[in-house]
Amino acid sequence: MDQVFDIVIIGAGPAGLSAGLYAGRSKMKALILEKDNNGGQIAITHAVENYPGSIENATGPSLTKRMVEQCQSFGTEIVRDTIESLELDGDVKKVIGEKGTYLGKTVIIATGADARKIGCPGEKMFAGKGVSYCATCDADFFEELEVFVVGGGDSAITEALYLTRFARKVTIVHRREGLRANKDSIEIAKADPKIHWKLHKVVKEIKGDGILESIVLEDTRDGELEEIFADEDDGTMGVFVFIGMIPHTELVKDILATDDEGYLITDDEMKTSIPGVFVAGDVRSKKVRQVVTAASDGAVAAISAEHFIFGTP
Ligand SMILES: Cc1cc2nc3c(=O)[nH]c(=O)nc-3n(C[C@H](O)[C@H](O)[C@H](O)COP(=O)(O)OP(=O)(O)OC[C@H]3O[C@@H](n4cnc5c(N)ncnc54)[C@H](O)[C@@H]3O)c2cc1C
Repeated sequence: MDQVFDIVIIGAGPAGLSAGLYAGRSKMKALILEKDNNGGQIAITHAVENYPGSIENATGPSLTKRMVEQCQSFGTEIVRDTIESLELDGDVKKVIGEKGTYLGKTVIIATGADARKIGCPGEKMFAGKGVSYCATCDADFFEELEVFVVGGGDSAITEALYLTRFARKVTIVHRREGLRANKDSIEIAKADPKIHWKLHKVVKEIKGDGILESIVLEDTRDGELEEIFADEDDGTMGVFVFIGMIPHTELVKDILATDDEGYLITDDEMKTSIPGVFVAGDVRSKKVRQVVTAASDGAVAAISAEHFIFGTP
């Protein structure tokens, strides 16, 4: 492709689509490159109820559809390609994919992050249907049910405490006796009557016939298996997995600075250390990773890119 775009955006999740919307609407020539389904993480999310304006049974796919249509209505192109490398020096940056090379005056990296998975049978089948990686997003669906929280770090304990506001019983499953979370939250969790513990255990399987009905735990000391079934009256249970996130930073691993957890560092305007290169969404170092914050980052990144090309008004 010889055409030089004003902005080349990598990733069509909420951050990339928001950047594409803002870019298109300000009459910049923008291209989004996506390797998979448009929508990123929300493409596999059953319900998104906390994005402003998302009401009436809004699902991840329905929100994605509206975001894509809105973005394309302002002329932003979306092309399916997996980006493999970047050449970011100079005035025209090269974005190299499996299918072609794309040129841009600016580049926005919106490649997102994925929750680390347990990797056990059943996990994929029940993702978004009983297995969740986001308590803020899904706690509401487990009102008065039993949920299991997998993990022993800060996010596992904090999210377990949050889940006690919704669930009837919260059981923390952790592979060791020792927890990596900070002492204060561990003490609060230990004193909470709704929180129960399954230590020295890992999840071996998640089972059910259409709905999640049981989990199989393995004792890390002697390999003994234990199957825990949903309460008969409940019929189902939840499994919340907090064993870390994996940011998609492969493209700029040795080029851009990352924080201790591997997320890309930017300033408030989404700028990086390379002029004309911006980062938006979950791949960025920040506290809250949600659709609303990804969309916000995307908007800011597109406006910063516009200012980079045309000068700050
Ligand atoms: C199960 C689940 C439920 C959730 N529920 C909610 C909710 O209810 N409310 C809420 O606010 N948030 C929710 N979240 C969080 C929310 O989905 C994320 O914060 C948001 O999607 C982040 O957007 P993003 O655009 O930064 O990244 P992503 O959504 O991760 O999108 C990144 C995109 O970049 C693409 N990409 C990556 N690398 C490349 C490459 N090399 N070449 C081309 N394309 C590439 C990926 O395929 C992906 O489509 C949920 C997350 C999960 C996993």
